[in-house]
Amino acid sequence: MPESPEQFKALPSQPWHAEPLERIYPALQSGPEGLDESEAQTRLRHFGPNRLPEAPRPHPLRRFLAQFKSVLILVLLASGIITAMLGEWIETGVILGVVLINALIGFVQEGKAEEAMLALRDMLSPQARVQRGGRILNLPAEQLVPGDLVLLQAGDRVPADLRLVEARDLQINEAPLTGESLPVLKQADTLAMELPLAERRNMAFAATLATRGVGKGIVIATGLQSEIGRISGMLARVQVPRTPLLKQMDHFSRVLSAGILAISLAILLFGWSVHGQDPRELFMAVIGLAVAAIPEGLPAVITIILAIGVQRMARRQAIIRQLPAIETLGAVSVICTDKTGTLTQNAMRVEEIVLGREELLLAELRDEEAQLLVRRSPALAELLLAGILCNDAEAAPANEGWTLEGDPTETALLELAIDLGLDPQGLRAASPRLDLLPFESDRQLMITLNQSSHGNQLFLKGAPERVMDLVEAQGFSGSQETLDRAFWQAQVMSLASRGYRILALATRAAEIGQGHIDGQDPGKGWILLGLVGMEDPPRMEAGPAVARCQAAGIRVKMITGDHAVTARAIGARLGIGDGEKVLEGNALEVLDDRALAEQVRRVDVFARISPEQKLRLVEALQAQGAVVAMTGDGVNDAAALRRANVGIAMGRKGTDAAREAAEMVLADDNFATISHAIEEGRGVYDNIQKTLLFILPTNAGQALVLILALVLGMQLPITPVQILWVNMITSVTLGLALAFEPTEPDVMQRPPRDPNASLLSGSMLFRILYIGLLLVAGTAAVFYWLLQSGAGLDYARTAAVNTLVLFEIFYLLPVRALHGSVWQGHMLKGNPWSWGLIGLVLIFQILFTYWPPMQALFATVALRPADWLWMTLLASSVFWLVEMEKFVSGLGRD
Ligand code: ATP
Repeated sequence: MPESPEQFKALPSQPWHAEPLERIYPALQSGPEGLDESEAQTRLRHFGPNRLPEAPRPHPLRRFLAQFKSVLILVLLASGIITAMLGEWIETGVILGVVLINALIGFVQEGKAEEAMLALRDMLSPQARVQRGGRILNLPAEQLVPGDLVLLQAGDRVPADLRLVEARDLQINEAPLTGESLPVLKQADTLAMELPLAERRNMAFAATLATRGVGKGIVIATGLQSEIGRISGMLARVQVPRTPLLKQMDHFSRVLSAGILAISLAILLFGWSVHGQDPRELFMAVIGLAVAAIPEGLPAVITIILAIGVQRMARRQAIIRQLPAIETLGAVSVICTDKTGTLTQNAMRVEEIVLGREELLLAELRDEEAQLLVRRSPALAELLLAGILCNDAEAAPANEGWTLEGDPTETALLELAIDLGLDPQGLRAASPRLDLLPFESDRQLMITLNQSSHGNQLFLKGAPERVMDLVEAQGFSGSQETLDRAFWQAQVMSLASRGYRILALATRAAEIGQGHIDGQDPGKGWILLGLVGMEDPPRMEAGPAVARCQAAGIRVKMITGDHAVTARAIGARLGIGDGEKVLEGNALEVLDDRALAEQVRRVDVFARISPEQKLRLVEALQAQGAVVAMTGDGVNDAAALRRANVGIAMGRKGTDAAREAAEMVLADDNFATISHAIEEGRGVYDNIQKTLLFILPTNAGQALVLILALVLGMQLPITPVQILWVNMITSVTLGLALAFEPTEPDVMQRPPRDPNASLLSGSMLFRILYIGLLLVAGTAAVFYWLLQSGAGLDYARTAAVNTLVLFEIFYLLPVRALHGSVWQGHMLKGNPWSWGLIGLVLIFQILFTYWPPMQALFATVALRPADWLWMTLLASSVFWLVEMEKFVSGLGRD
């Protein structure tokens, strides 16, 4: 190991592709076992973490100033300037206050949303499989150092620059580096010195993507020293994207502002020409009107709702990669889910073995007698050997027994062999592997070529249909007999009908001198050794989650690479499909689009489906107007994930390729998490609707109070400055409360939202209108009644303002439940924020009414307690009215 790591400084510039393998390990002071842990730590300190530095965030001042880019804020600022020119300093001050508070809220909220996105990126930080001290570890890619041995497989993002020491069928897409979109076949041989990057086929570069095969490479450069690091130098900054809804809201605010300005102008002209009002006073009133009517807080509140949604989903193990997915989740009408690992535990265990006709061994194998059996049955011994050698999982002896690592289908085979008294390590050492055709979902089989004492031997394992296509005999090496296809067919059916995943194992002698496997032509003379059936129990929470989705009007479809009968059996246990209809990949292949459309309507279980067929399924469903969420984990699933409305990747077993194509990642690979995410997605949409239902009528009410007085040429019940105050306090503070509203308990009992429906339904418009009018009527009534009874103008206005705010508070309460009554568990529990914010608003109102400096600023006077009483009673009417409206419309719905 190096005395001084200084000598590594020259690493990246060395022409590694031209170094023969024998020189690579010594040059990097590493070995086929990998670095040991302490050396790796020393190097990590020296080279620093394997990541690109973050792009700096813009200066906070710049971010703050960016808030002033919104049209609404500009309208406000313009009004502020005009009032200042007119010398109306109080108005100017209040307007500037409104602007400042809005900009601040926007600034803070943006920061929060950005933090949420950053945190999510950390949760998704890439991992690498590394060999250190002879053991294979999963490490954050950040910890890689030069000299580390990295294992690659299809779907991995290459974590650092590697000189390959092994490559089997390894193909890498180097588009991020070279722009070339076709994958390059890699190899481990030494190459000529003068070669451009794109032709260094024994190198794998950071940020490129393995699309096929497996490989192993030694790290030669990390972080900024890697090729990609030298080009880009920095990570892209996290951006909070605009979602369709936010865009819609922006558009809506803009149209609304234009409309309000037009109305204001009309009123200005009208008041001036018809009533001959003082232009200056009129102008101030109209500015108040514009400010009151414009829902400044709306975009900010909606962004906060989305950010909270992201956090809530993350807490429930659903990580959102693309913000718009939150909205789409709420509209999902079909979920297409994988089976293995998502609906099931992916904890495979061999339950049955079927050998040749005369030996049918059933499960209760794992006792001492069974070990005797292995010794007596050469057929069983060879099947177990095939399972050990044709297998990429690792077995290492541990304190008590063995630790197994790798694909559960493969660890199950090792576990079986160990249970039956075999020693996988010893057997592997006795028959070293010469070549490998790795397992790929589309090929559905895996072949190895192993050395053995009596000539080289090939082993094959895979889906029974594929293996049956190749085999010509049954038995074991040295004792073959004619293949009885009908027998095996029946055995496959019988295992599958119990929901088992099935592997068939086979072997043949290699040709003399054969050192490689021909992937195109595996050759003749394969002998079928037998079948194994593995149980992969359904996840406990999967069945109930499927039922919840179905109750929520969402169709659940299972799309699996497994056998049709296995899929049907598992589907039946989980409540997916009718326990009969299954569509298989090769049947699907011959359907035209119309016939497929018909099938996807009827069938919920799809078996032996290839990734390309997944894409067709998504398209067929979408053509019928479905909003489709689709899960996937393999490198070939990326296209289907992109095409789906919500692509969902697995956080644990999924490949980097799938994760990067997905909108959402399941941290726990669990189907139930999808249903939770949909629930939260629906909650988010609810909260946005609630916010609109609150902010729009209150703003309309505030504006209408002024419009009415101006049009009728009467005393203003509320002065322009006062209206600014109400607006600043209510739409921002109270509206914010709804952002924290928990998801309603009944969201999963409703059908999915129509994705084409407009944000504001007819009944919502009706609500906005009547609440607006009610607020005006109540406020105006208080004002004129007090004026009539000789209370004085300032007193009447103070009462009017407080009545308006009380109305808004009483309106906030029922809005918290969208459809049902707020009493159904919602009123007191759930959202402490709303009570806190209501308390805050009340404190503001008391200061506004009783605190001398505020009285001076807003021309308010202290109110008599008795007046508070009847004002409160009057304002509470809105609560009962809205609850009644919900009750009546609820009757209609049922
Ligand atoms: P799901 O879609 O339910 O998650 P899957 O896509 O994981 O299923 P595959 O992994 O493609 O399904 O497996 C398809 C078939 O290939 C299995 O039924 C099995 O017979 C076979 N198979 C699975 N894993 C291996 C393996 N490691 N080696 C050989 N054959 C395998």
